[in-house]
Amino acid sequence: MPRSGSASTETRQYEEPAVVLGAGIAGLAAAAVLADHFPAVLVVERDSLSDEPSVRRGVPQGAHLHGFTVGGRGALEEMLPGFGEELVRAGAQSFDFAVDLPIRSHLGWGIRFPSDLWFVCASRPLTEHVLRRRIAQHPRVTMLTGVQVTGLTREGPRVNGVTVRPAHGGRTSALPVGLVVDAMGRGSRCARWLEQAGFPSPTEEHIDPHTTYATRVYRRPDVPPYSWQGCYLQVGPGQPRGGMLLPIEGGRWMATLVGLGARSPSKEEADWLPFARSLASPVLAENLSHAEPLTPVAVSHSTTTWRRHLHALRGQPDNLVCVGDTSVCFNPIYGQGMSVAIFTARYLGECLDRTPLSTGFAHRFHRGVRSLTRDPWLIGSAADLRYESTTGPGRRLHHRAAMRYFDRVLEAGVRDPLVQLAFLRVFNMLAPVSSLLSPAVARRVLGGRAPGRRPADAPPPVTAR
Ligand SMILES: Cc1cc2nc3c(=O)[nH]c(=O)nc-3n(C[C@H](O)[C@H](O)[C@H](O)COP(=O)(O)OP(=O)(O)OC[C@H]3O[C@@H](n4cnc5c(N)ncnc54)[C@H](O)[C@@H]3O)c2cc1C
Repeated sequence: MPRSGSASTETRQYEEPAVVLGAGIAGLAAAAVLADHFPAVLVVERDSLSDEPSVRRGVPQGAHLHGFTVGGRGALEEMLPGFGEELVRAGAQSFDFAVDLPIRSHLGWGIRFPSDLWFVCASRPLTEHVLRRRIAQHPRVTMLTGVQVTGLTREGPRVNGVTVRPAHGGRTSALPVGLVVDAMGRGSRCARWLEQAGFPSPTEEHIDPHTTYATRVYRRPDVPPYSWQGCYLQVGPGQPRGGMLLPIEGGRWMATLVGLGARSPSKEEADWLPFARSLASPVLAENLSHAEPLTPVAVSHSTTTWRRHLHALRGQPDNLVCVGDTSVCFNPIYGQGMSVAIFTARYLGECLDRTPLSTGFAHRFHRGVRSLTRDPWLIGSAADLRYESTTGPGRRLHHRAAMRYFDRVLEAGVRDPLVQLAFLRVFNMLAPVSSLLSPAVARRVLGGRAPGRRPADAPPPVTAR
């Protein structure tokens, strides 16, 4: 287990248990950090969890492609040293992101070159399975599975209990709590329970480009038609359809097709390859036509970019915090969700290291989360807001300015490895958006010429840096 060796006794100062609601990525990562601080950590999960990696009811998005940014996985490795190797031993594929995953935006293919961006790629069920196996080994962590959280109880300004009952029916009981961590994902009802207990409820902000995700798993051919490992055809202005192909465990490919608004993929198998062929480059469809499909098409519409304004809430209980999708949720086409879940959990540990659970703890935590999610929110919201299909607030000046500059970065990244590397580092959450404005990068972004011709059909060859 992660920092269990490094946990100092003085950090374990609480008598009551920390109770984590939900055993998705955010809940498991939160349990990892809480085990350094609390004598007992209870993780309450509604699903009965299988010993094998599988798509489950509480995480239906597990049927879809789940790219894990290099930065997000790195943050998890800090908490759980060796996690990446464990994932690879369990079958995950690893490769150089700048070489083996050609990316085509609406402005062309990014230049490819050897880098140190090691990407580890697995299905979401396998990632979660390896993480859960690791967390469950910790002596201070107990997993209560097949148990549904149904509400909260209050004593003065604090939450003093969580009510639970067996997921398939039975008697309700209450668990005493020191700290409650809401990690129940997009569907969390915690805000309503807080309101019922007389606490204030946060306002929310929604941006919805009406994205549809359609995914299918394939057996990877022995000799694929291309040398690279996967490819990513991004949606963009004038390009409402995109797709991604990634290798996952078990000699398989996972392919996801994406469409905005009326340009969406369907669940019909007959529509699948024609949709893939309608993308801006034929390479994804060509790969698929050489491979054997193993599953029907799974579809998801749960793709809204959304956040709760928890940082602005006055009078919230000091001992209840929200991590992962319960506080901020992204359109998955940007691949940020799991990484942000890890970052919010890691930040929870930092807050507990710094200040004990006392007056204003939750308020300070949510303010910090707001800051640390500012970049992914800017990228996600500014990009989403420029699509015709999007509903939500109007585009503001900073959204336009960000996207105008981002387009220049993408243009420059077609020919300039330094700019492309800076972009890939931001994409992989290893560097802040502001790094794209550093003099070395900005000079090349603003000084370069636009490619000025139709982007090529196939990715460029690998060049030296
Ligand atoms: C189609 C799609 C594709 C995606 N692709 C990517 C991607 O490529 N990369 C990426 O990083 N992210 C991706 N995401 C986002 C990613 O899935 C989430 O951001 C991430 O899973 C956040 O995890 P979480 O732990 O906050 O929530 P979840 O993973 O949703 O977990 C919530 C948990 O809470 C449990 N729960 C819910 N209610 C209760 C209750 N009442 N009692 C007890 N337990 C309860 C659920 O069973 C579940 O286990 C995608 C999302 C979607 C929808």
